[in-house]
Amino acid sequence: MAVIYKLGSRGPVVKQIQGALHLIQDGIFGSLTRETLIQWQKEHELTPDGIAGPATLAKLLPVVTKNILHMNKSRRVITDIVIHCTASREGQAMTVEQIRADHKKNGWSDIGYHYVVLLDGTIANGRDVDLIGAHVSGHNAHSIGVAYVGGLEDKPGVAYSRLKAKDTRTDRQKAALLSLLIDLKKMYPDAKISGHRDFSPDKNNNGIIEPQEWIKSCPSFDAKTEYKHL
Ligand SMILES: [Zn+2]
Repeated sequence: MAVIYKLGSRGPVVKQIQGALHLIQDGIFGSLTRETLIQWQKEHELTPDGIAGPATLAKLLPVVTKNILHMNKSRRVITDIVIHCTASREGQAMTVEQIRADHKKNGWSDIGYHYVVLLDGTIANGRDVDLIGAHVSGHNAHSIGVAYVGGLEDKPGVAYSRLKAKDTRTDRQKAALLSLLIDLKKMYPDAKISGHRDFSPDKNNNGIIEPQEWIKSCPSFDAKTEYKHL
């Protein structure tokens, strides 16, 4: 399924498109967004159709330093792309090496995630995608794990264990995450995108994983809804 945003589209991705075009971010793709996009497409040698498809999105929502990233397709069958947060404080930078060291303390062989979106929007490689990750209990074999750095509020003086879950993604992280997911969906068109918390057990068997059933609030936002159009 191609990812397309056009006249009448709504939602967080439309907000990002508007932000990149320096428009008011109301999240509604109206005629001003369309006209501005056509102009932008002309300036960037893209088909000026006023529709934000994969080619336009790739240029419009650029990732700061995607060059350190290598994207190869996993030899495993991938059915799920699972979004995580590192459960670190808002604004606190973390490198892949730090996360890897933390995960090794759990006795794991390597970092649990396959991709990490750093605070500045850099996308970095984690574990080799051919290898099964360690990020979602019972669902690692056929999934790709993607984490962004953050996911907890930062309250000075408050103990780590008492900090609440918070969607701390910076604008750059949001754009990077979206760009990465667009690429991953091209590679694994049948894979479903969800958040870690969506894999919590459905205790009352009503088919919906409700907030009280979340084993963890990771990734601190509703990934399933945000990326359902991808
Ligand atoms: Zn998680």
